[in-house]
Amino acid sequence: MKGPEIHISFAPGLGLFVPAPRRTGRTAVTTDGVSTLGHVVESLGVPLTEVGALLVDGERVPAAHVPAAGAEVEVHGVERPQEVPGAPLRFLLDVHLGTLARRLRLLGVDAAYESQDAGDAALAAQSARERRVMLSRDRGLLRRRELWAGAYVYSHRPDEQLRDVLERFAPPLAPWTRCTACNGELTGADKDEVGERLEHGTRRTYDVFARCTACERVYWRGAHHARLDEIVRTALAEFGGAPA
Ligand SMILES: [Zn+2]
Repeated sequence: MKGPEIHISFAPGLGLFVPAPRRTGRTAVTTDGVSTLGHVVESLGVPLTEVGALLVDGERVPAAHVPAAGAEVEVHGVERPQEVPGAPLRFLLDVHLGTLARRLRLLGVDAAYESQDAGDAALAAQSARERRVMLSRDRGLLRRRELWAGAYVYSHRPDEQLRDVLERFAPPLAPWTRCTACNGELTGADKDEVGERLEHGTRRTYDVFARCTACERVYWRGAHHARLDEIVRTALAEFGGAPA
């Protein structure tokens, strides 16, 4: 049985998710007459995490709206910065995003990540349980209903991934306050407190110490931090004034 035909157009930023013929202008879709607009959009390849306003004949509708024959549908991308109400902003990254996780932590952004793949079901459950925004390049993972919230990471390159997340969510930045190894919070520590854990040369040369409250790892500022300093400087220059 042939269902109603609707017309649909996608914002340019969503073009990468849909087949080439649907990337520009409006195209026809035959629906089954009972599916929600959210389902129709998703079935065309677009994760709902990436969808902002849905308009039908110029009026904003929820994803649960069931489009009728002749509907003119516009699918917009998420607004940036995107608000995620209901919990403090924190993230969960899939197994492929380790570098991004460490850079977010470097900037003080709460970024849970495990280098061993927990699997999609466990990640989605953790996102729901801890109210974390799931970051992934895996559309199947982003489609899981139990996610608290999610976002597609658009680039392969860590520096672009970081800009993408900082621009999209505008998290408050607090560099050098979080353990890049485990996401724990850092606390100040003095040389005497951590002295026996340090090599003699380190103990002589470096003055600023911090300790991870979760894994006990010791941090000090030294020459080997030049690259990390640069990441912090660049992020603060562009995103440091962003509101919480
Ligand atoms: Zn730690």
